[in-house]
Amino acid sequence: MRARIGITTFIDDTRPRGRYEALNESYIRSVAAAGGLPLLVPVLEDKAAIEDCIASLDGLLLSGGNDVLPLRYGEEPLTGLGLSCAARDESEIGLVLAARERGLPLLGICRGHQLINVALGGSLYQDLPRQLPGALDHSPPEGQMMDELRHTIELGDADSRLARALGSGKIAVNSFHHQGVKRLAPGLAATATAQDGLVEAFEGEGGAFLMGLQFHPEALTARYPAFLAVFRALVEAAEAYRRGSVTKLI
Ligand code: MN
Repeated sequence: MRARIGITTFIDDTRPRGRYEALNESYIRSVAAAGGLPLLVPVLEDKAAIEDCIASLDGLLLSGGNDVLPLRYGEEPLTGLGLSCAARDESEIGLVLAARERGLPLLGICRGHQLINVALGGSLYQDLPRQLPGALDHSPPEGQMMDELRHTIELGDADSRLARALGSGKIAVNSFHHQGVKRLAPGLAATATAQDGLVEAFEGEGGAFLMGLQFHPEALTARYPAFLAVFRALVEAAEAYRRGSVTKLI
């Protein structure tokens, strides 16, 4: 059986006939192309459902989306903060904490990267142009295709999981975010930074697979297949996790 990779969705309340749970299909295609079984995880409303969800997965991908509510990292909202959804924050923070308890492999992309940092005790810039002096333009105008490259990142540690997947040194990535990691949570280490110093990738310091990426590799895999290695790394970790949990049950 393929490794079961949950992918979180967002509530789309802009449709005329009711609320939908939605996800850009590039996440699904990238996980499938890497050999995983993509399973969509909706916004869950109670702790037991969150626990059951984590117990039924081999890995979890936290997808992109709106801003995490600053109250979650002890700040009041500042001008420049975008839309947020408290129900999604609650659900995803619960999923991250339950996943960490079990050592379930976790990959966070864009909002997912920021969400993991907040769930584990870090904080965010609410709006980079206003809060990070000398910040690059991380957010192209509306209409930019997601597979267009934007800026470089420097992969610091050649032994990081990210460098093992993508190679060390400098690479170009896409960029669709106006927020970013301000204070990195305890237990996380930066593995790539943009020229303005912003953390574009981090990993967990423990043994379990935990990776956050501020850019969007899922949107690049079709045009630049090298980025598929990130998803392969997640699926391989999920396969190892699955073997370990099956052994424990026996
Ligand atoms: Mn960026």
